[in-house]
Amino acid sequence: MFDVTEFQARCRAAGLALTHQRQVIYQVLMQARGHPCPEVIYEKVRKRIPSISAGTVYKNIKTFLNAGLLCEVTLHHGTMRLETNVQPHHHLVCTGCRAIFDVDSNEVDEVQLRRKPPKGFLVNGYKIEFYGLCPGCRKRQ
Ligand SMILES: [Zn+2]
Ligand SMILES: [Zn+2]
Repeated sequence: MFDVTEFQARCRAAGLALTHQRQVIYQVLMQARGHPCPEVIYEKVRKRIPSISAGTVYKNIKTFLNAGLLCEVTLHHGTMRLETNVQPHHHLVCTGCRAIFDVDSNEVDEVQLRRKPPKGFLVNGYKIEFYGLCPGCRKRQ
């Protein structure tokens, strides 16, 4: 959820200037459920700042990504999906409706590769994507 003090602290730590636009974009991101695509964020931001351009919203999303305030969900059907949960976790991906659900990392067994990585490789983290059908899509089938 959105916390102004936390947002300001994270911007300061990342060396980002605090602007009203930036704060609104971040707030919309944090309040968006799941793993939104940038277009959805733009539509929501525009309701609060009608004069804002799509370019400005996307540029700020890029800035948040570069600064580590956001992550990008990787390899997701070629579309960009944003990750607002920067804690380590894994994903359940529905191949029917493209919904992405978070899975806590402690619900997944330690991966063997992390304990015994290939020679010379230092593993700092990992992400697992489980593919399948969400309850809604299973019902529709
Ligand atoms: Zn689904
Ligand atoms: Zn996630």
